[in-house]
Amino acid sequence: MPNKTEPIFCRSRAWIELDREALHHNVEELQKLLPNGCELMPAVKANAYGHGAVLISRELNRLGIKAFCVATVSEGIELRENGIVGEILVLGYTHPMQFPLLKRYDLTQTVIDLPYAEILNKYGQKVKVHIAVDTGMHRLGEPCKNIENICKIFRLPNLKIEGIYTHLCADDTDLPKDRTFTLEQSRAFYSTISQLKERGFECPKAHLLASYGLINYSELGGDYARIGIALYGVLSTEADRKCCSLSLRPVLSVKARVTALKTLQKGETAGYGLQFVADCDTKIAVLAIGYADGIPRSLSCGIGNVLIKGSKAPIIGRICMDQMLVDISHIPNVKSGDIAVIIGQSGDEKITACDLAEQTVTISNEILSRLGERLERQLI
Ligand SMILES: *Cc1c(COP(=O)(O)O)cnc(C)c1O
Repeated sequence: MPNKTEPIFCRSRAWIELDREALHHNVEELQKLLPNGCELMPAVKANAYGHGAVLISRELNRLGIKAFCVATVSEGIELRENGIVGEILVLGYTHPMQFPLLKRYDLTQTVIDLPYAEILNKYGQKVKVHIAVDTGMHRLGEPCKNIENICKIFRLPNLKIEGIYTHLCADDTDLPKDRTFTLEQSRAFYSTISQLKERGFECPKAHLLASYGLINYSELGGDYARIGIALYGVLSTEADRKCCSLSLRPVLSVKARVTALKTLQKGETAGYGLQFVADCDTKIAVLAIGYADGIPRSLSCGIGNVLIKGSKAPIIGRICMDQMLVDISHIPNVKSGDIAVIIGQSGDEKITACDLAEQTVTISNEILSRLGERLERQLI
């Protein structure tokens, strides 16, 4: 049986190392930016952006953080079953058949709009909610122009309204049109709140900032900042990281074991579809990680690299479900059991989630959140 206290790199085939100090550092950096009276509400949805929701939330609980947001009821339940305390806000849709779980696990549900509020009210037991207000993203939320509908939600007897929030959708650039849009979203949100107050409704906690909102518009205030990507020390793109004045440190590294070595003669091929053809004698290493672990298959055939002993090793052939091949002709003394870095640092070289995102035409959020269940995770 594996010993739980021994470092995972002693035994795993492929794993995620979480840098505890980097997480603490990011929390401190982000807390410095918080508007007065505003608390961090980390977004730990999608397994904490692939990092491991329980490990991350437990560490955040230890740092005194007492509010979290998740996307689904089952994500909330996983946290509760692992002893996470404080408020847990479900940002997404919950089916009426799952309403009893909200009560049983003390989760706070998002009110998506008036019709949803009425269904939730019919459940008949007091449920804690935050009301989503749509100020222009046109995803979830009762449209802010329907102030009468929002008032109706407030009058429903079985909703315990503890919060009201909106989501900004163009807060990540400083293009004039995006700035104007963002300020208009904020104006509409706060105007909704004043109208509710004028009508005598007790106003609960209000929040609108996510990572980019806090970084670019901390003056917009709020009682919570729902921070996901920045907490993990990453921004969506490398360009964003370069122009951000915050010093954030990536929390996650992905590593995999070298399992076998081969020498190909000129003209021999490697992998499915004969996609790699050695144009000279070539040393290759087999790694115990593949696309089922969340490594994008589109990094195949020389698009991506890994790091071995501080050097870049190009990915060759097609990435398989559980394994992949890299060219190590230029790296001496690689042995079975050695460690390859997929995301992270090795010697003076590093590969970031943003690098993988750029090579596969997406954002780091997608790369991270798709990292597989099969990877073992540990805080170190
Ligand atoms: C995911 C999410 C967040 C966190 O976003 P980041 O950009 O990762 O900080 C905040 N609010 C809502 C509604 C979300 O869906």
